[in-house]
Amino acid sequence: MVERQKILQDSFGRIHDYLRISLIERCNLRCFYCMPEEGVSLRPRSEFMRNEEVLELAEQFVGLGVKKIRLTGGEPLIRKGVEDIIEGLAKLPVELTLTTNAVRVNEYVHVFKDADIKQLNVSLDSLDRERFRSITRRDYFDQVMNNIELLLMEGFKVKVNAVLMRGENEDEILDFVRWTEQTDIHIRFIEFMPFDGNKWNWEKKVSFQEILDKVTGAYGADGVVQLPTEKNATARNFRLLNGKGSFGVISTLTNPFCDSCNRIRLTADGKIKNCLFSNQEVDLLGPLRSGQSVEPLILEAIEKKKHARAGIEDFSKYAGHKNRPMITIGG
Ligand code: SAM
Ligand code: SF4
Repeated sequence: MVERQKILQDSFGRIHDYLRISLIERCNLRCFYCMPEEGVSLRPRSEFMRNEEVLELAEQFVGLGVKKIRLTGGEPLIRKGVEDIIEGLAKLPVELTLTTNAVRVNEYVHVFKDADIKQLNVSLDSLDRERFRSITRRDYFDQVMNNIELLLMEGFKVKVNAVLMRGENEDEILDFVRWTEQTDIHIRFIEFMPFDGNKWNWEKKVSFQEILDKVTGAYGADGVVQLPTEKNATARNFRLLNGKGSFGVISTLTNPFCDSCNRIRLTADGKIKNCLFSNQEVDLLGPLRSGQSVEPLILEAIEKKKHARAGIEDFSKYAGHKNRPMITIGG
């Protein structure tokens, strides 16, 4: 009898074929919505996956049907040996990509090309130098803008992630959208989400409708074209009539995309998170190091996934749900 191929299907029938691997809990920026003001405590290196362990676990996931891998962090490009990890993952039959703050992208363009990476997500929450500095607590605005330009010039597809926060940057929605008029870039407005130590509250979110109203107010309803929704998409996407680029809205809190979720997260210390908001983690690194098979642990973690947002029904009443700070999860 032929053994049925194991796949990462949860109890709601969702197939998980997209793995996000966090490579590091540290960062060269200090975005206040991600990194707690007091920082995160440094832990011994032995608690984190070594390069070869990242590759070994990734291979196990690919054996279970994973088709896309995203490297994230913290900032993946400050991890020592990240080029070896990228080179190793590029040998697997997966679409490989990464999410970065772009500060060090210029040092890695050749590595991306060798690995056949075609698309990158870059985080940028303001087009204003001073505001960038106040959000990230660092002065790298010019470097990030230059590196986005470099990626575009080198032929990469770039998605810009902008976390919208009332009172911080919601007045820049139209500036970001204007960028897509002449540039083939995709802007994704992301709803501000709660994590430990990030001073979130419900009033700071900027809703999908508010963003769309602002854009149609400026360009007219006929000036904005809705794009078809992709499979497993997290964003609703649009473009300006005659615009070269596009923009989208990811509204995890007010309009979640859990029904079609295909994502699994592996933290830098080797734990599976079956949902961004879940605090029920499954350790793979310990068992891997002690020679145990991790496959049953992976299957069990997916089997236990809740239907939506780790069971948190109503974020307007969200209080005291214990989770890691985002920087230690990997967005
Ligand atoms: N350092 C890389 C970067 O900034 O792109 C990768 C890691 S970062 C944690 C991944 C993504 O998570 C970024 O796009 C960031 O904007 C997003 N993120 C972090 N904290 C968030 C929050 N509280 N709400 C929404 N998105 C958040
Ligand atoms: Fe660093 Fe990215 Fe978090 Fe900003 S969002 S602190 S760049 S990990």
